[in-house]
Amino acid sequence: MIRLVTLLSISVALFAIPLQLIKKEAPNPKVTLLVIGGIHGNEPGGYFSAAILATHYKILSNALWIVPNLNQPSIQADRRGKYGDMNRKFAHIKPNDPDKPRVEAIKKIILSPKVSLVLNLHDGHGFYRKKYQGSIFNPNAWGQTCVIDQCKLDGAKRFAELDAIAQKVKENINKKLIKKHHSFNVKNTNTKFDDEEMQQSLTYFAVIHHKPAFAIETSKNLTSLAQKVFYQLIAIEEFMNITGIRFERDFKMNLHDIEKIISDYGYLTINDNIIINLSNIKKTLRFIPLKSKDNTFSFTHPLGSVKKSAHGHLKVFIGNKHITTLVPQYFESAKECPKSFAIITGKKRKTVKTTSEFFVSDDFRIVPIDNIRVNVIGFSGRKRNESGIMIKYNKLDKRYSIDRQNRIFRVEFYRKDKFCALSLVHFKEGNN
Ligand SMILES: [Zn+2]
Repeated sequence: MIRLVTLLSISVALFAIPLQLIKKEAPNPKVTLLVIGGIHGNEPGGYFSAAILATHYKILSNALWIVPNLNQPSIQADRRGKYGDMNRKFAHIKPNDPDKPRVEAIKKIILSPKVSLVLNLHDGHGFYRKKYQGSIFNPNAWGQTCVIDQCKLDGAKRFAELDAIAQKVKENINKKLIKKHHSFNVKNTNTKFDDEEMQQSLTYFAVIHHKPAFAIETSKNLTSLAQKVFYQLIAIEEFMNITGIRFERDFKMNLHDIEKIISDYGYLTINDNIIINLSNIKKTLRFIPLKSKDNTFSFTHPLGSVKKSAHGHLKVFIGNKHITTLVPQYFESAKECPKSFAIITGKKRKTVKTTSEFFVSDDFRIVPIDNIRVNVIGFSGRKRNESGIMIKYNKLDKRYSIDRQNRIFRVEFYRKDKFCALSLVHFKEGNN
């Protein structure tokens, strides 16, 4: 899989509340598609798709804006709405509603003159059918639909034919079904006349402000997250085709590739001096050298988040998945720490940045640095400072690896008793 250099074209704007808006733009965009993931916290198909759009697509013409995790507290809690249904708060919201800052922020983005079309991503119950065919397949189901509030949009300059657009998207999705019963339909909620509840929704807010808007609903009853993401992404790609957004992606549109991407959790950096590889990570990591307060966390994955438990442990999430717990050991941060260090591995000398993951085959030795003590976690030698010592893979206690495959170990740097940095050594497969 080739990874396109897309990260450079991503700019992340943080509002007063942490609402992520990722803008991917080609020069002089005429059209902007806004994709919103995670209005409902227990619908991962939507927000994992938005995250993949942000990290694995390159936009060649026009613009794609992505809000991957609108309702972040509900995503972490894996609930539809931690503070009630956010998608019923776009007509009225109480001043003290905890969702208010997020709802106001997304309204502002929707109303930006640049935004030409809005997609709101959901996973809905069952499989929508016009006739009743049982509790899963029926007219009240939402799954596998492209939802519109009305057929036509008055006052929109472009993309006003909502029904015609949704029909075209549906037809093209139905050419790519994994199973026949996954077929897509258009669901028109006739919001203005028939659906008082939906008058409070995000898409209806867009529609009454003359912005074309659609919801994409994959089914909660699909058997895997990869299947939901597959349908979300092919639907979004249809919308990019219709709006004239040319794109490239760095993977093939099949379940195998999507599964691989979903299980890649990326990296967590803490305080700019600790790096943790989150893929295949063990359930608990102990003695993580943190500050007693004001730690900062940054993830390469757009759905990464941290929650502090009552014991001061840090639960790490990717979307609704609780992937590991970090148990801290508090240290003061040292001043004057090295930005890089040298290793000798297989007779070669390499320079490595202190907060990074470096790869070796079978063994490595860290070239000593003045006044800096090195501790390779899982290696027990006779010396307190492990710089200058040859560290072999088979000498490491695998209980201390951070990953379930026992390939990745922590290399920590200290100045006297103060903490400098945590790097990772990753032993490549097949050599030892
Ligand atoms: Zn939903």
